[in-house]
Amino acid sequence: MSFTALGLSPQILRALDKSGYNKPTLIQNEVIPLVLAHHDVLARAQTGSGKSASFVLPILQLWSKNVGEGKSKIKALVLTPTRELTLQVAQTFETMGEFLPQKPKIVSIIGGESIGDQLFAIQKGCDIVVATAGRFIDVLNKKQMNLSHLEFLVLDEADKMLDLGFAEELELILKEIPAKRQNLLFSATYPPKMQMIASLITQNPIEVTIESDVPTVQTIHQRVIQVNHANRGPLLRHLLESEKWEQVLVFMANKRATDNIAAKFKKYGFLAESFHGDLLQEDRNYTLDAFKAKKIRILFATDIAARGLDIDNITCVINFDLPRSPADYIHRIGRTGRAGKSGIAVSFIDHEDFDHFKLIEKRSQIKLPREEIEGFELTGTAPVKVKGPEPLKGKGKSKKDKLREQAGKF
Ligand code: AMP
Repeated sequence: MSFTALGLSPQILRALDKSGYNKPTLIQNEVIPLVLAHHDVLARAQTGSGKSASFVLPILQLWSKNVGEGKSKIKALVLTPTRELTLQVAQTFETMGEFLPQKPKIVSIIGGESIGDQLFAIQKGCDIVVATAGRFIDVLNKKQMNLSHLEFLVLDEADKMLDLGFAEELELILKEIPAKRQNLLFSATYPPKMQMIASLITQNPIEVTIESDVPTVQTIHQRVIQVNHANRGPLLRHLLESEKWEQVLVFMANKRATDNIAAKFKKYGFLAESFHGDLLQEDRNYTLDAFKAKKIRILFATDIAARGLDIDNITCVINFDLPRSPADYIHRIGRTGRAGKSGIAVSFIDHEDFDHFKLIEKRSQIKLPREEIEGFELTGTAPVKVKGPEPLKGKGKSKKDKLREQAGKF
């Protein structure tokens, strides 16, 4: 199938051509015609599948055919889980809308930046809002935004938004928008909570599942290296010097660890930086831009970078600390091997990670050979468990899970 055969307008085809999108991805093939035919859609798709364009392109086309006269009215609202994904989606709207007879006005609403500026941008006239839910509610509460003309509601990476309070936020939003609208929901997984959200917002949705998400991951060469925890830093340094990986994203368990290790690697002379949720938004943007522009070679990050981040050309993802859940493992390694390119994902494991990594393999339906690197071989034995079996990481309840249970909403 070609983009032309999907029924997209010449102006959109021109923007696709300019961006070097020659052929629709599988999800685009499925979703674009459904949206153009005004259906609600529930799509199961991961990042890297091209899902953003699968809703951006048909929304732009439908919007453009029905712009109307006078001041812009908010016709589409896209909610995403992170500030970075919000900015990326807004950018995709800008890029793909470049050649439309009337260019859409797109406003991003994210935390960490001036709410006054965002309100001003909306009041000046806005066609499409892309937002993180929390800040969108703050703006909604100012009662200066008219959503009565809304035609499209999109939840992108919806499973990542199933956080404490999201249901309440969604209810507040649903009260402000017309009941008759087109709803598109994108999610990598559909746990029961997600299905409840889906039934709350969509009407007779058409379900789309893209099995090809697996090949996206199959273009990634996954490696597991056994190494003592204390030796991970020296091993990383050795690998960075010997493997000649260009752009490397290293996942750490917490914010402090990312700051500490980035400072250490800078001292060794590497172009390294840390990236986590405590940094100011402008610093986060600056760091990401520098990483994209290859001014930074190694980015030490928390799981905030695991989803949604769209950076082409990450050669290698390293799990310095393992992710909590198998789903996070897939999201983390999906930062490399984007859009059909190949990539490398390396996980460091010590004795105490063996069970947890086996669980990740089982859930991801993979089985990887264990490697050791000369000079950094794993020593010692697994720590002896004293009192009964400990819960596996990822199986025990996190503080957040417990809070959610207390909230009892879902
Ligand atoms: P997404 O899954 O929306 O995050 O997109 C993943 C990456 O694929 C992004 O870098 C897009 O720019 C790129 N992409 C999306 N659709 C296409 C396409 N049809 N052809 C080439 N690249 C694409």
